[in-house]
This record gives sequence, C-alpha cells and structure tokens, in this order.
Amino acid sequence: MTEATRVLVLNAGSSSVKYQLIDMLDGRRPATGLVERIGEAGGRLVHTAQDGEPRESRQPFPDHATALAAVARELAADGLGLDSPQLAAIGHRVVHGGQRFTAPTVVTDEVLTEIRRLVPVAPLHNPANITGIEVARALRPDLPQVAVFDTAFHTTVPEYAARYAIDRATADAHRVRRYGFHGTSHQYVSRATARLLGKDPAEVNVIVLHLGNGASASAVAGGVCVETSMGLTPLEGLVMGTRSGDIDPGVVFHLHRVGGLSIDEIDDLLNRRSGLLGLCGDNDMREITRRMDEGDEAAELAFRAYVHRLRKYLGAYCAVLGRVDAIAFTAGVGENAAAVREAATAGLTELGIAVDPELNSVRSGAARVISPPYSRVAVAVVPTDEELEIAQQAYTLVHTGWS
Ligand code: AMP
Repeated sequence: MTEATRVLVLNAGSSSVKYQLIDMLDGRRPATGLVERIGEAGGRLVHTAQDGEPRESRQPFPDHATALAAVARELAADGLGLDSPQLAAIGHRVVHGGQRFTAPTVVTDEVLTEIRRLVPVAPLHNPANITGIEVARALRPDLPQVAVFDTAFHTTVPEYAARYAIDRATADAHRVRRYGFHGTSHQYVSRATARLLGKDPAEVNVIVLHLGNGASASAVAGGVCVETSMGLTPLEGLVMGTRSGDIDPGVVFHLHRVGGLSIDEIDDLLNRRSGLLGLCGDNDMREITRRMDEGDEAAELAFRAYVHRLRKYLGAYCAVLGRVDAIAFTAGVGENAAAVREAATAGLTELGIAVDPELNSVRSGAARVISPPYSRVAVAVVPTDEELEIAQQAYTLVHTGWS
C-alpha cells in the first residue's frame, strides 16, 4: 500500500491562493504554485512541478472554488491529483486563531464555526482562509484538513504583555488584546536558529526579526514566545512596506476630527499608504537603497525611520529577555538587505551585538551566522519557510496527535 507522506499546503488570501505540495519523507516539493487576481479581471495561475518549467495559464477565476478546482487540475496533470493516496493531509494557513487556537487543529464543523467567529478581528484574512478550507473539504471530504494559525505561537505571551492598558470590560467585550501574527515564521526561524547554533531550542533566547512587506519582531525564550510586535491586527509595531506600525492613537482622532478623514480612509491610509511607501513613495527595499545611493533624501528618511524603529524593538527585546543568545533576520528584507542588517546592529557592541561586514555581504540562500566570533550574541540570517512549518505541523498532528 502507498504510504501517505505528502501534505498540500494552502495559503488562501483575499484574491490569491498559494500552494505547495511537500513530501515529508525527504522535504521535496513535487509541485508549487500561485493563483492571482481571484474575483478580478486578468486571473493567472502559475504552476511549477519539481524540476519543471513554470506553466502559466491566464483565465478568469470568479471565486476561490474555481481557483482551487484549477489547482486540482494542474496537480492531476502532473500525476499529483488530490485523489492521490500519497496525500496525508491538507494544511491551511489561517491568520487569526484568537485565544482559542494555541496549536494546529484538525478542522471540524465546530472549528470552522469558531474561525468564523473571529472574522470581526481579521476581516481581511479569515474569510479567504475559511473559503479555502471549505473548498478543499468539498474536494477531499475524507482527508484531514489541518488549520495552522498565524497567532498560535504568540498565545504564550504573558497576559501583562498581551493586554492593552484600557478598560478591561470594554477590551474583553470586543476581544481587544495583542494577538501577534507571522507566528508560523517566528516559530520556524527561532527553532532553525537554535539548530544553526547546534543548540536545543529550549536552551536559547532568540530575537526574530521577520522583515518582509509586513514586518514583525518577536522575543522567544527557550522556544516559547514571550513578546511580539504586532497587536490586535498586523498594523502595530515595526515600520513596514505600506503599514505605519506604532502610532499614537490620537493621530486617528485628529485625522478624523480635524482632517475630516473617515474611519475607512484612515484605515486605508495606515494599512496601505503608510510605512516606507508613505515616507518615500516606494515600498521595495531594493528600490529604496538604490535611490539612497543616488542621494535621494526621501528614500534616506524612509530607510532611517525603518531602521530606527527596528533598533528600538531590538533594545526593548534585549530588556524583555534579559539574556539574548541570537538575533535572526528573516523574510524578504531580512534575508537580502545587508544594509538593513548592518544599520540595525551598528554600534551595539556594548550590548554584545556585532556583525562582520564581510559575512554580512555574502549573498546566500542558506541559514548563516554573520557575527564575528567575539560577538556575545550570535547574529544570523535564517531563511523562513512557513509552508514547510505548516506541512510539518499538519503531518505531525495527523500521524501522532499533537502533544
Ligand atoms: P516578503 O514579504 O518576505 O516576500 O518580502 C518582500 C520584500 O522583500 C520586498 O518588498 C522587498 O522590499 C524585499 N526584498 C526582496 N528582495 C530583496 C533584496 N534583494 N534586497 C532588498 N530587499 C529585498
């Protein structure tokens, strides 16, 4: 009998679906792909079989059901159909798991109802995640569907750090608290950093800096997350590509009362027209560093604001952890932008943090240490792999039950 060793990982966004088929025996990815512009004009599917050229097809995808049906057809064309006995589970990225979901969970009707109840705190994300689960369930009702939550890794943040200092009854009535996001990445990277250092995750304290288009920091003590920068929504914390990060809530009242902006306009401003984009017109760090090299002042300001916020969090998390063993840079900016890593860690030798300029400038897709031997804190670049983490969690849950 064929052994079921593969997990299909689905990441359903509001207008896109990303997928990866991962074999848990050897980590190979027999297929990966992306459907874009679901529900919009110009739908596009790019499917890549292992060792194959990407296959692109353009067609309208009116909804997630048509998109996932097309994904199933592409997989079947490569002999990897959803009916394959090799498939052990489908792992779904779910953005918001609230306080209830602290670990990966096999989806039942009751679990779906609970994920639906969290839509008011994640209106942009959870509906698409739910649709992805529903469609996948309809395609393979017999297969375990496992929800892996972006918030789960942060449910260990202590109450005094997770609560906003506002009226408790009001906060509880509306589930207002800090949840944190990118948890799957923080979990994966904090463990991979321990491995890179040849240590057990339980032995090391790590600050993870996940710097992608969205960006967040976390403080992980002995494998347990104790603080993270995102809050009720993914808006709090670091300066990001298009999001402001931390801001005085008074700015919102001022823009509404004095500036005449509606709440929706302010929401749009802070989430989509702020951060690096708001400061200099670009949200891509490659473009910003290129403009800086040409002496562009707005790009320089954006870069400095970005790095300054990062350093504030780095300092704060040193204090939160007390002893820091490693700092890990990850995601698009963290893995690729040597200038950001250099600026974020410059002048911190008093805190035991140093970066070797030569090691920092090496371009590589591998996890690597970039601090010199005398640096008390190891500084590392650790590529994130959220899909692999989702697949591993789903596979472990299905095979052994979660412990
Ligand atoms: P992610 O959300 O992790 O995919 O990260 C996307 C972001 O990574 C982009 O918006 C870029 O700002 C940044 N990025 C990607 N490649 C590079 C690079 N080679 N140098 C600097 N930044 C990069």
